Amino acid sequence: MIRACLATISLSCATCNIPTFKLRVEPLFESYGAPVVIAECDSNGRVTGTRTVPRTVRNDTGWRQVLSPPNFQTARRGVTEVAYSGRYDDFYVPGIYRCVACGTALFSSRDKYDSETGWPSFRRLVAATNANVTWDYTWGLRRRAVSCARCGSHLGHVFNDGPPPTRRRYCINSASLAFSSVGG
Ligand code: FE
Repeated sequence: MIRACLATISLSCATCNIPTFKLRVEPLFESYGAPVVIAECDSNGRVTGTRTVPRTVRNDTGWRQVLSPPNFQTARRGVTEVAYSGRYDDFYVPGIYRCVACGTALFSSRDKYDSETGWPSFRRLVAATNANVTWDYTWGLRRRAVSCARCGSHLGHVFNDGPPPTRRRYCINSASLAFSSVGG
């Protein structure tokens, strides 16, 4: 989606028609991405309805303006944070976890559990519409990557070794999340 908003200007030599260089023009922020339906939640993580919103589209310069370097590396570069280093690993305050980049509701504290892996782990999303799951073959592994449905930020991975009843383990980077407490 981001690439669709980029423009490339090619300049060529007038006599030989060989391209001499390309100037890549990237908008800092585009608010007119294709619409996406997102579930809205209250501070308890309960779905209150749905809303059609434009996808959040920024280039790297734009994301660096709104994300800290660690948040940018994880959310926009897909870098996994070191185990046991994230602020939400050993953290069990009641509330809701949103995408650090665009604020989309993702997980409720009610579905958080200690997987003893060193990363925040959840049994389920607050709404399946709010995230996308795609195959990830990096590092010689075959995993399912989870990304925010509205802005495309990398969140983590989902595995099938979680506790009942879902048996899912959403293994999520703290650096991709922003927490708000109940009533906060
Ligand atoms: Fe997002």
